[in-house]
Amino acid sequence: MVNISELMNHKNRLKHRPSANDTIELLDDPDYVVIPLEYPGRILYKPTVKIGDQVYKNQIIGKSPLGHCIHASISGIVRDILAIWTANIFHVPAILIQKNDQPALNTDQVFEQADTSFEKASTIEKLKILGVISPWNRPGRLQKEDEKTFPSIEKIVIKAFDEEPTIAIGDLILRNFTDKIIRGISYLKNLAPQAEMTLVISQYLADWGTLNYSAYTSVKTVSSEYRDRLSQLVVSKITGVNIPTSSAYRTHGIAVISVEYLLNLVDALDGHRPFISKFLTLSDSGNGEYRTFKFPLGTTIRQLLKAANITDRSFPEIIVGGPMQGITQYTDLTPLTKTSHGLYLKTKTDVSAETNLTCQNCGKCSRICPLHLQVHLLGRYAEYGMFKEAVDLHPEACLDCGLCAYICPARRSLVQLIQMCKKYGGLVDEFPQQQAECGASSALERWELGFQDATELDSRPVTSSTD
Ligand code: SF4
Ligand code: SF4
Repeated sequence: MVNISELMNHKNRLKHRPSANDTIELLDDPDYVVIPLEYPGRILYKPTVKIGDQVYKNQIIGKSPLGHCIHASISGIVRDILAIWTANIFHVPAILIQKNDQPALNTDQVFEQADTSFEKASTIEKLKILGVISPWNRPGRLQKEDEKTFPSIEKIVIKAFDEEPTIAIGDLILRNFTDKIIRGISYLKNLAPQAEMTLVISQYLADWGTLNYSAYTSVKTVSSEYRDRLSQLVVSKITGVNIPTSSAYRTHGIAVISVEYLLNLVDALDGHRPFISKFLTLSDSGNGEYRTFKFPLGTTIRQLLKAANITDRSFPEIIVGGPMQGITQYTDLTPLTKTSHGLYLKTKTDVSAETNLTCQNCGKCSRICPLHLQVHLLGRYAEYGMFKEAVDLHPEACLDCGLCAYICPARRSLVQLIQMCKKYGGLVDEFPQQQAECGASSALERWELGFQDATELDSRPVTSSTD
């Protein structure tokens, strides 16, 4: 059996690995959770609770100006509302809840908080109140609440595959939740009766998928090659619509939804529960085994690794996401959120000693780039702060797929350099970020220390406010 380490070191074998393990490990509620209130560019919630409040699992604890809600994933006391670094390197406000034994709210109680009832709420209101940002909602937090500005949905793509070679949530959900997915498909048909629907699955599941799903929707497949699984290219190919990287699918009359979000949509519309837990694939570069967890939102990396019995701290790099597009974390206290699909641990032997060497001008990066961007030039422009020149090479089109960095013999941080071109070339400021003020020390480090002694924590003076 080829392990992930061999796979990643073998440049021409960058393939998705099917998971043989169908077990889903359910994580217990941790001692505390940290729930970010902002996903820059997408949504900003204002807290509806304050420090010292008792909150109950499922309770609405934040609301966006457009009515989207975020919920407590455990019952407990709000111990702080503080600025933290997220897995995606944004500095945002977050709510910290310390667990206690109070019961969860039921769906009726959650809807009472929103001054309505499950029966009276429209489909879109139900999704907003229960925390599911479906393709029918706004793509960005600053968009005006006016459905008429968008074309009607003519095409729906349901994604049952993951791009990253080490994440296998889509395959696993497809195999384990067939009835629920079929139910979700019927909900999507009610939402957009005229739309053409396609379920996209991994090639190795083609026969099984066609047998189980083709009576309900058209089924198409993607190969195991990483390059063939890049979502934007897959969606463009299936719908026949060329979608620029900088524009949302929704503005082209296309709705794209993952099977995991489809399950959340079903739970919301069936009135079962809000979106408070998430699937994640845990893998490492050494043993090649995958494990899939379902964790309460706001669980930290440290808590998840402890629950997974990984305590030896022998992984010098912890990446949220996968090896191609994931982001290395500076601390294992980073909370895992609705956008955390994978946790990839690199062993010592897989961490490069030398990185960011001088560009050799070999051109491999431009040849492998699916969009044929002049990656080497973009990298050098960024290195020398020549962002105006970089703009002419269209860094905004970059898919962040990581193929250029993967192939680069000089191990240059090409994706980050191109992201700098996007940022400082003035191309990604479509949504001004209202980030919280940065602090020099890690608030979560201080909190983790506090939690070593709950008595001390209880007597600790409040350090921040909701203002
Ligand atoms: S692959 Fe690396 S070394 Fe080669 S041209 Fe691109 S940036 Fe330069
Ligand atoms: S990450 Fe690199 S290879 Fe991928 S689209 Fe961007 S420039 Fe091209």
